[in-house]
Amino acid sequence: MSEITELTVYELSEKLKAKEVSCEDVTKAYLEQIERIDPLVKSYLTVTKDIAIKQAKKAQEKIDSNNWQPFTGVPLGIKDVLCTKGVRTTCASKMLENFVPPYDATVIEKLKEQGAVFLGKLNMDEFAMGSSTENSAFFPTHNPWDLDRVPGGSSGGSAAAVSARLCAASLGSDTGGSIRQPASHCGVVGMKPTYGRVSRFGLVAFASSLDQVGPICRDIKDCAMLMNVISGHDPKDSTSVDFPVPDYLESLKEAETFIKGLKIGLPKEYFVSGLDKEVEESVKAAINKLSSLGAEIIEISLPHTEYAIATYYLIAPAEACSNLSRYDGVKYGFRAKEYQNLSEMYKKTRAQGFGPEVKRRIMIGTYALSAGYYDAYYKKASQVRTLIIKDFKDAFNKCDVIATPVTPTPAFKLGEKLDDPLQMYLSDIFTISVNLAGIPGLSMPCAISSKGLPIGIQFMSDYFKEDVLLKVGYMLEQNLALGRKIPKVLKD
Ligand code: GLN
Repeated sequence: MSEITELTVYELSEKLKAKEVSCEDVTKAYLEQIERIDPLVKSYLTVTKDIAIKQAKKAQEKIDSNNWQPFTGVPLGIKDVLCTKGVRTTCASKMLENFVPPYDATVIEKLKEQGAVFLGKLNMDEFAMGSSTENSAFFPTHNPWDLDRVPGGSSGGSAAAVSARLCAASLGSDTGGSIRQPASHCGVVGMKPTYGRVSRFGLVAFASSLDQVGPICRDIKDCAMLMNVISGHDPKDSTSVDFPVPDYLESLKEAETFIKGLKIGLPKEYFVSGLDKEVEESVKAAINKLSSLGAEIIEISLPHTEYAIATYYLIAPAEACSNLSRYDGVKYGFRAKEYQNLSEMYKKTRAQGFGPEVKRRIMIGTYALSAGYYDAYYKKASQVRTLIIKDFKDAFNKCDVIATPVTPTPAFKLGEKLDDPLQMYLSDIFTISVNLAGIPGLSMPCAISSKGLPIGIQFMSDYFKEDVLLKVGYMLEQNLALGRKIPKVLKD
């Protein structure tokens, strides 16, 4: 195992600054690791080797001219749902197989300004719809802890790549858990920021009122560092919020005093039957650890939790069916080869370009929005969403942070839930309320199961309190001392 790829972003960044390693050597170490390990994990859809080496050279010039910044020369992987100028952006869909965006997403632009190196684009469920990365139109990604299992989804490539040291950190997107759930399954840290904290400009839309871009990293410090760069108002995204961005990394210094007296709420609706015993025990042990550090643990209630899945699976597909109407074969993307007239061109393009899960969502969404059903489904779901938001408002009057499991079970086997979409949807139970409410959520490892699979814990906080989540996460990370969490694929 290369020593360079073992470093966290924080460690690597310090070494680059001190010129103990060169940007080119770092990038080459990662490219070698990708060549060796990615044929097993299959996390990348596109590796941009030549671009990465060029960027590394430029990054070194930046350091040599004393213009170092925290991400200068740090090799990153990007979920293939974020537009990258001149580099194909597929959303893991046949529809965009050859789509090359003419512009960068704002988050990419921000990282480029720092001199970050981009290794390539990471696999995902098609258009971010799924929980296992099996809905990719190209190939599934494998979990580095057990290659027979899923890495989670939809940012499965992003989480697997960070876990297997195929990039120093990555970006994902989270509409209903797509950063937090794969982070949990792969033993890494993932954050879904507050809706509006991070620009969505250049993020291919799935469900616009739920989507957020966020970091997937090896540890909390790295997550704080990446949040420092990507957060903030963007005039190009009208839903991004002009609200001060704290220095997240700096704020970790207060973590130790901060935890004392902090109120952590455990929602009783999240610890119910169906929750794997080992997951429950591990999450509770982590909470006990926080209590021993001075946090106060209380029971709370989020009474509308039971409606979250139904609400999400109406709102998300409704927004998706409207967002995806742009893929008609006219402006960009795939177009069917043979057709008699315009209407047939549309039909064939969409029939051939979209995979089965995307089609399922388009049909659910179209139904929920259609005249006569709108009130019963979409409108009703929006009303229940308000109740879910109110649940959190009430909860945050009683506690500062909410702690829950991320997923009901550790990573499941490839193929296990593929024929049963409802089972797949049900596994999102603990993550989707965060998106419906727009609050931030953090997923981080808290244990390794008896089968050698990572188990995650989730923390939620009130709007724009990402720093609170990171401080709690940092205290837990320091005190659980799970070590460097090396997945099996790197040990064999
Ligand atoms: N698993 C959820 C879905 O399939 C969440 C996806 C996401 O967050 N992008 O919709």
